[in-house]
Amino acid sequence: MICQLDSFKITVLNNLNSSILELDKQYVWHPYSSSIDPIPSYEVTSADGVYLNLSDGRSLIDGMSSWWCAIHGYNHPELNSAAKQQIDLMSHVMFGGITHEPAVVLCKKLASISPPNLNKVFLCDSGSVSVEIAIKMAYQYWISQGLSSKSRLLTIRSGYHGDTFAAMSVCDPVTGMHHIFKEVLTKQFFAPSPFTKFKEKWVENDIAEFKKILATRSAEIAAVILEPIVQGAGGMRFYSPQYLTRVRELCDQFNVLLIADEIATGFGRTGELFACNWANISPDIMCLGKALTGGYMTLAATLCSAKVSSGISAGEAGCFMHGPTFMGNPLACAVANASIDLLLKNDWKANIKRIQQQLQERLEPFAELSTVAEVRCLGAIGVVEMHEPVDLRWIQKEFVDAGIWIRPFGKLVYLMPPFIITNDQLAILIDSMHRVLSKV
Ligand SMILES: *Cc1c(COP(=O)(O)O)cnc(C)c1O
Repeated sequence: MICQLDSFKITVLNNLNSSILELDKQYVWHPYSSSIDPIPSYEVTSADGVYLNLSDGRSLIDGMSSWWCAIHGYNHPELNSAAKQQIDLMSHVMFGGITHEPAVVLCKKLASISPPNLNKVFLCDSGSVSVEIAIKMAYQYWISQGLSSKSRLLTIRSGYHGDTFAAMSVCDPVTGMHHIFKEVLTKQFFAPSPFTKFKEKWVENDIAEFKKILATRSAEIAAVILEPIVQGAGGMRFYSPQYLTRVRELCDQFNVLLIADEIATGFGRTGELFACNWANISPDIMCLGKALTGGYMTLAATLCSAKVSSGISAGEAGCFMHGPTFMGNPLACAVANASIDLLLKNDWKANIKRIQQQLQERLEPFAELSTVAEVRCLGAIGVVEMHEPVDLRWIQKEFVDAGIWIRPFGKLVYLMPPFIITNDQLAILIDSMHRVLSKV
């Protein structure tokens, strides 16, 4: 039996180079995919600038920044150098009782560039985990205040906060498929998704339902959690900064903490460094991830105010009850520092404006296609919402054959290219996208 297994493994190893795609189909489970009838994957062997290079020799212009992350593009010399320098010193040490320069510098940097009052930084591995930590901070804060009945969350529909259990409980109930997990998910409070669009005139009625829930149930609510301004994977919606201003006021009025999930919006994507800046508000707790390391490796952070950190620490437990094994990974922190420095040393705001302008101009004609419901842009995000969900199996191949990498979900075909994309590359990306969508 053991011999059989070994010879089988050797065969697999020998075949590795010849049939990665075949073996992928056999052994690998991809995100949100079927193991019975998977949509074929494409094998990327290297990536450089805005290009993903496929094993069959083709190069694709990347319109996704690997899910919001690769803001400086791929294989960037400054990020490569930061990783190489750090790996020769140490790639990881435990964070309990030990500290190191890459983490300290990063936490200070995050505290100084984030909205006011967020001065304590808790590092972790991924976005979903940073959301779990934010929620746990909120719960533990109220336990420490002797108000343990404040043990639920209020959020808005069309949100996305990650795939772990607490995060899932505040994702949109429809796209997050709450009905299939209804036995295991904590029941939270849901207000309607804001209807006042980013540039529209504010209508106070937009926040009425949200306010009603807070006014009647605040004794049970620990925190409000939402994605500021841009709701990402739950619907790619852009809403009025005034909504966020009112949320902040209402949270203060009803004694509820505010958690801003900036995992997708952080680091300039919307045209402000953080989306909270559009409303000039400061949350009590903020989650960062995705573009934090420029897409080099997984790292996330949960920032909080002194009120939250001291409130938790003064409680019965005497400390915050959390500590991931890979917390503060030096390699990831070193690259994050280089990525933030790289972003801030250039005129990133003017660059995002340039991308937004091109997205707006070139995506506008898409609205004339009968299959398209709406086109919208904010910062370096361009969204084409179709009337019907697209056939991913068909359209994925069409995009690749057209030389571009776009990964739609449902009715949403959207672009969030690396910030280094040139006008010419963006023109090719959008024109090729138009050719494909014309065929839908
Ligand atoms: C992607 C995302 C998450 C989850 O992050 P992971 O790194 O995938 O765990 C949470 N919130 C928002 C807003 C996101 O876009």
